[in-house]
Amino acid sequence: MTATVAIEEARGTLPETRTYSRREWSWLAAPGSHLVTREGTLTIMQTSGRRVIRTQVSHYAVQVEGDEYLPAGVYSFLLENELEPDHFGPFRCIVGGAVELCGCEAGGFDKRRAEPARWTGCKHRAALMCLVAIGVFA
Ligand SMILES: [Zn+2]
Repeated sequence: MTATVAIEEARGTLPETRTYSRREWSWLAAPGSHLVTREGTLTIMQTSGRRVIRTQVSHYAVQVEGDEYLPAGVYSFLLENELEPDHFGPFRCIVGGAVELCGCEAGGFDKRRAEPARWTGCKHRAALMCLVAIGVFA
């Protein structure tokens, strides 16, 4: 199944975790996104601390991997952290199927859990689940 971008701009929140009291995401489609491999930018903002507030902001270039062999409802994404690109290249995050995974560090920890916390584990998967749920990719 191949996916195209249906929503240009969106934002939302993720459930809080033990570490982060506030988590937000925003999506901005790349201009002319149907012509290039980069579909858009995902920004994730996480706030931790009660007295001393710390906010982390990460920007990811997002590519939807069009794979005709993926079952309906399953999406495969390639993400690259724009400010701190991984030397191994973009990492993959798959959402929507029985087996969801993310190539990031938190995603690796999730894999070792018997029942990974879908919404409070890896932030990429949680944010991309939001994008898929509101119909960003059609
Ligand atoms: Zn991740």
